[in-house]
Amino acid sequence: MSPAASRTASGAMLKSSKTASLARKKIRISFKKLLKRFGRLGWWPAETRDEVIIGAILTQNTNWSNVEKALSNLRNRDYLNLKKLSKINQKRLAELIRPSGFYNQKARRLVAFSNYVYENHGSLEDFFRKDALHLREELLSLNGIGMETADSILLYAADKPIFVIDAYTKRIISRMLGLASEPGYLELQSFMSSAIKSNLEIYKESHAQFVQLAKENCRKKPICASCPLLNLCEYGKNPRTPKTVSK
Ligand code: SF4
Repeated sequence: MSPAASRTASGAMLKSSKTASLARKKIRISFKKLLKRFGRLGWWPAETRDEVIIGAILTQNTNWSNVEKALSNLRNRDYLNLKKLSKINQKRLAELIRPSGFYNQKARRLVAFSNYVYENHGSLEDFFRKDALHLREELLSLNGIGMETADSILLYAADKPIFVIDAYTKRIISRMLGLASEPGYLELQSFMSSAIKSNLEIYKESHAQFVQLAKENCRKKPICASCPLLNLCEYGKNPRTPKTVSK
Protein backbone atom coordinates (compact mmCIF):
# COMPACT_ATOMS: atom_id res chain seq x y z
CA MET A 1 0.00 0.00 0.00
CA SER A 2 1.52 3.33 -1.00
CA PRO A 3 1.66 6.18 1.52
CA ALA A 4 -0.72 8.13 -0.71
CA ALA A 5 -3.22 5.30 -0.74
CA SER A 6 -2.85 4.91 2.99
CA ARG A 7 -3.94 8.48 3.62
CA THR A 8 -7.59 7.76 3.04
CA ALA A 9 -10.18 8.50 5.66
CA SER A 10 -10.63 5.64 8.07
CA GLY A 11 -14.13 4.78 6.86
CA ALA A 12 -13.06 4.42 3.23
CA MET A 13 -10.00 2.45 4.31
CA LEU A 14 -12.02 -0.04 6.25
CA LYS A 15 -14.79 -0.37 3.68
CA SER A 16 -13.32 -0.34 0.16
CA SER A 17 -13.15 -4.00 -0.69
CA LYS A 18 -9.61 -4.41 -2.08
CA THR A 19 -7.91 -2.23 0.54
CA ALA A 20 -9.99 -3.73 3.32
CA SER A 21 -9.08 -7.22 2.22
CA LEU A 22 -5.35 -6.38 2.36
CA ALA A 23 -5.85 -4.70 5.71
CA ARG A 24 -7.62 -7.77 7.10
CA LYS A 25 -4.73 -9.93 5.95
CA LYS A 26 -2.32 -7.59 7.77
CA ILE A 27 -4.33 -7.92 10.96
CA ARG A 28 -4.20 -11.72 10.83
CA ILE A 29 -0.44 -11.71 10.21
CA SER A 30 0.10 -9.15 12.96
CA PHE A 31 -1.76 -11.32 15.46
CA LYS A 32 0.57 -14.24 14.66
CA LYS A 33 3.62 -12.02 15.01
CA LEU A 34 2.44 -10.67 18.34
CA LEU A 35 1.78 -14.17 19.65
CA LYS A 36 5.29 -15.13 18.64
CA ARG A 37 6.76 -12.09 20.43
CA PHE A 38 4.70 -12.07 23.62
CA GLY A 39 3.51 -15.68 23.89
CA ARG A 40 0.02 -16.44 25.16
CA LEU A 41 -1.07 -13.82 27.66
CA GLY A 42 -4.24 -15.53 28.88
CA TRP A 43 -6.30 -12.44 29.69
CA TRP A 44 -8.25 -10.99 31.61
CA PRO A 45 -6.13 -10.57 34.78
CA ALA A 46 -8.83 -11.77 37.22
CA GLU A 47 -9.78 -14.97 39.00
CA THR A 48 -13.57 -14.70 38.88
CA ARG A 49 -16.33 -13.23 36.72
CA ASP A 50 -17.18 -10.81 39.50
CA GLU A 51 -13.59 -9.60 39.55
CA VAL A 52 -13.61 -9.09 35.76
CA ILE A 53 -16.74 -6.94 35.97
CA ILE A 54 -15.50 -4.92 38.92
CA GLY A 55 -12.15 -4.39 37.14
CA ALA A 56 -13.90 -3.41 33.88
CA ILE A 57 -15.81 -0.65 35.67
CA LEU A 58 -12.86 0.49 37.76
CA THR A 59 -10.55 0.77 34.75
CA GLN A 60 -12.69 3.49 33.14
CA ASN A 61 -10.57 6.64 32.72
CA THR A 62 -7.54 5.34 34.59
CA ASN A 63 -4.60 3.00 34.17
CA TRP A 64 -4.49 -0.57 35.38
CA SER A 65 -1.96 -0.01 38.17
CA ASN A 66 -4.51 2.26 39.91
CA VAL A 67 -7.20 -0.38 39.39
CA GLU A 68 -4.96 -3.01 40.98
CA LYS A 69 -4.68 -0.93 44.15
CA ALA A 70 -8.45 -0.59 44.36
CA LEU A 71 -8.94 -4.31 43.64
CA SER A 72 -6.41 -5.15 46.34
CA ASN A 73 -8.37 -3.05 48.88
CA LEU A 74 -11.54 -4.93 47.93
CA ARG A 75 -9.79 -8.30 48.00
CA ASN A 76 -8.31 -7.68 51.45
CA ARG A 77 -11.80 -7.00 52.83
CA ASP A 78 -13.43 -9.83 50.89
CA TYR A 79 -15.47 -7.50 48.70
CA LEU A 80 -14.52 -8.82 45.25
CA ASN A 81 -18.05 -10.10 45.00
CA LEU A 82 -21.01 -8.43 43.30
CA LYS A 83 -23.56 -9.80 45.75
CA LYS A 84 -21.63 -8.26 48.62
CA LEU A 85 -21.29 -5.01 46.70
CA SER A 86 -25.07 -4.88 46.24
CA LYS A 87 -25.33 -4.51 50.02
CA ILE A 88 -22.28 -2.41 50.82
CA ASN A 89 -22.54 1.18 52.01
CA GLN A 90 -21.72 3.26 48.92
CA LYS A 91 -19.50 5.70 50.82
CA ARG A 92 -17.48 2.84 52.26
CA LEU A 93 -17.07 1.36 48.78
CA ALA A 94 -15.97 4.74 47.42
CA GLU A 95 -13.22 4.89 50.06
CA LEU A 96 -12.01 1.38 49.20
CA ILE A 97 -11.80 2.12 45.47
CA ARG A 98 -10.40 5.64 45.86
CA PRO A 99 -7.07 4.74 44.10
CA SER A 100 -8.95 4.09 40.83
CA GLY A 101 -10.11 7.74 40.55
CA PHE A 102 -13.67 8.99 40.02
CA TYR A 103 -14.37 6.82 43.06
CA ASN A 104 -17.80 8.24 43.97
CA GLN A 105 -19.04 7.76 40.42
CA LYS A 106 -17.54 4.27 40.15
CA ALA A 107 -18.93 3.24 43.55
CA ARG A 108 -22.39 4.34 42.37
CA ARG A 109 -21.96 2.35 39.15
CA LEU A 110 -20.75 -0.79 40.93
CA VAL A 111 -23.61 -0.74 43.42
CA ALA A 112 -26.15 0.00 40.67
CA PHE A 113 -24.78 -2.81 38.48
CA SER A 114 -24.82 -5.32 41.35
CA ASN A 115 -28.34 -4.34 42.40
CA TYR A 116 -29.55 -4.58 38.82
CA VAL A 117 -28.21 -8.11 38.37
CA TYR A 118 -29.58 -9.50 41.64
CA GLU A 119 -32.93 -7.69 41.57
CA ASN A 120 -33.72 -8.45 37.93
CA HIS A 121 -32.02 -11.76 37.24
CA GLY A 122 -31.29 -13.39 40.57
CA SER A 123 -27.73 -14.30 39.65
CA LEU A 124 -24.94 -13.44 37.27
CA GLU A 125 -25.27 -16.87 35.64
CA ASP A 126 -28.93 -16.23 34.78
CA PHE A 127 -28.12 -12.75 33.49
CA PHE A 128 -25.43 -14.17 31.22
CA ARG A 129 -27.77 -16.82 29.76
CA LYS A 130 -29.06 -14.26 27.25
CA ASP A 131 -27.60 -14.18 23.76
CA ALA A 132 -24.76 -11.73 23.15
CA LEU A 133 -26.85 -9.16 21.27
CA HIS A 134 -29.57 -8.82 23.91
CA LEU A 135 -27.09 -8.95 26.74
CA ARG A 136 -25.07 -6.17 25.10
CA GLU A 137 -28.17 -4.01 24.73
CA GLU A 138 -29.06 -4.56 28.36
CA LEU A 139 -25.54 -3.77 29.56
CA LEU A 140 -25.48 -0.58 27.50
CA SER A 141 -28.75 0.53 29.06
CA LEU A 142 -27.13 0.56 32.51
CA ASN A 143 -25.75 3.76 33.93
CA GLY A 144 -22.05 4.23 33.21
CA ILE A 145 -21.64 1.14 31.02
CA GLY A 146 -20.29 2.19 27.63
CA MET A 147 -19.36 0.02 24.68
CA GLU A 148 -15.83 -0.84 25.80
CA THR A 149 -16.96 -1.78 29.32
CA ALA A 150 -19.96 -3.74 28.00
CA ASP A 151 -17.84 -5.65 25.50
CA SER A 152 -15.12 -6.39 28.08
CA ILE A 153 -17.82 -7.85 30.35
CA LEU A 154 -19.31 -9.82 27.46
CA LEU A 155 -15.97 -11.27 26.34
CA TYR A 156 -14.17 -11.89 29.61
CA ALA A 157 -16.99 -12.46 32.11
CA ALA A 158 -19.87 -13.79 30.00
CA ASP A 159 -17.67 -15.72 27.53
CA LYS A 160 -19.40 -14.24 24.46
CA PRO A 161 -17.13 -13.91 21.40
CA ILE A 162 -17.16 -10.17 20.77
CA PHE A 163 -14.12 -8.09 19.81
CA VAL A 164 -13.24 -5.46 22.41
CA ILE A 165 -12.04 -2.14 21.03
CA ASP A 166 -10.07 0.14 23.30
CA ALA A 167 -7.90 3.21 22.82
CA TYR A 168 -4.81 1.03 22.38
CA THR A 169 -6.39 -1.01 19.58
CA LYS A 170 -7.55 2.17 17.85
CA ARG A 171 -4.07 3.65 18.08
CA ILE A 172 -2.26 0.56 16.76
CA ILE A 173 -4.67 -0.16 13.92
CA SER A 174 -4.78 3.49 12.85
CA ARG A 175 -1.00 3.66 12.70
CA MET A 176 -0.58 0.25 11.12
CA LEU A 177 -3.06 0.97 8.34
CA GLY A 178 -1.95 4.60 8.00
CA LEU A 179 -5.43 5.97 8.66
CA ALA A 180 -5.92 9.71 8.55
CA SER A 181 -8.15 9.57 11.62
CA GLU A 182 -9.10 7.00 14.21
CA PRO A 183 -12.13 4.94 13.20
CA GLY A 184 -15.23 4.88 15.38
CA TYR A 185 -15.79 2.09 17.88
CA LEU A 186 -18.41 0.11 15.93
CA GLU A 187 -16.66 0.62 12.62
CA LEU A 188 -13.39 -0.78 13.95
CA GLN A 189 -15.14 -3.57 15.82
CA SER A 190 -16.91 -4.65 12.66
CA PHE A 191 -13.63 -4.54 10.72
CA MET A 192 -11.69 -6.52 13.34
CA SER A 193 -14.46 -9.10 13.57
CA SER A 194 -14.28 -9.56 9.81
CA ALA A 195 -10.48 -9.91 9.95
CA ILE A 196 -10.21 -12.39 12.81
CA LYS A 197 -12.59 -15.33 12.89
CA SER A 198 -15.11 -15.38 15.68
CA ASN A 199 -13.57 -17.45 18.43
CA LEU A 200 -13.74 -16.78 22.15
CA GLU A 201 -10.15 -17.61 23.00
CA ILE A 202 -8.72 -15.85 19.93
CA TYR A 203 -10.73 -12.69 20.66
CA LYS A 204 -9.57 -12.70 24.27
CA GLU A 205 -5.98 -13.26 23.27
CA SER A 206 -5.88 -10.75 20.41
CA HIS A 207 -7.16 -7.93 22.61
CA ALA A 208 -4.53 -8.81 25.19
CA GLN A 209 -1.80 -8.85 22.54
CA PHE A 210 -2.71 -5.37 21.29
CA VAL A 211 -2.69 -4.00 24.83
CA GLN A 212 0.76 -5.52 25.39
CA LEU A 213 2.08 -4.00 22.17
CA ALA A 214 0.70 -0.60 23.18
CA LYS A 215 2.56 -0.84 26.47
CA GLU A 216 5.84 -2.07 25.04
CA ASN A 217 6.15 -0.41 21.63
CA CYS A 218 3.12 1.42 20.33
CA ARG A 219 3.10 4.04 23.06
CA LYS A 220 2.01 7.63 22.54
CA LYS A 221 5.57 8.11 21.35
CA PRO A 222 6.08 4.81 19.52
CA ILE A 223 9.24 2.71 19.74
CA CYS A 224 9.10 1.36 16.20
CA ALA A 225 12.64 0.01 15.80
CA SER A 226 11.99 -3.03 18.01
CA CYS A 227 8.29 -3.45 17.14
CA PRO A 228 7.31 -6.90 15.86
CA LEU A 229 4.87 -5.22 13.45
CA LEU A 230 7.36 -2.82 11.89
CA ASN A 231 7.32 -4.46 8.46
CA LEU A 232 3.54 -4.38 8.37
CA CYS A 233 3.03 -0.88 9.71
CA GLU A 234 2.46 2.14 7.48
CA TYR A 235 3.52 4.56 10.19
CA GLY A 236 6.54 2.46 11.22
CA LYS A 237 7.76 2.26 7.62
CA ASN A 238 7.02 5.89 6.90
CA PRO A 239 6.77 8.06 10.03
CA ARG A 240 5.36 10.90 7.94
CA THR A 241 2.17 8.87 7.57
CA PRO A 242 -0.46 10.74 9.58
CA LYS A 243 -0.35 9.38 13.10
CA THR A 244 -3.28 9.26 15.41
CA VAL A 245 -2.73 9.29 19.13
CA SER A 246 -5.12 8.50 21.90
CA LYS A 247 -4.97 7.60 25.62
S1 SF4 B 1 5.81 0.03 14.01
FE1 SF4 B 1 5.62 1.75 15.46
S2 SF4 B 1 3.66 2.74 14.98
FE2 SF4 B 1 3.66 0.70 14.03
S3 SF4 B 1 2.64 -0.63 15.48
FE3 SF4 B 1 4.84 -0.76 15.85
S4 SF4 B 1 5.27 0.78 17.43
FE4 SF4 B 1 3.23 1.23 16.58
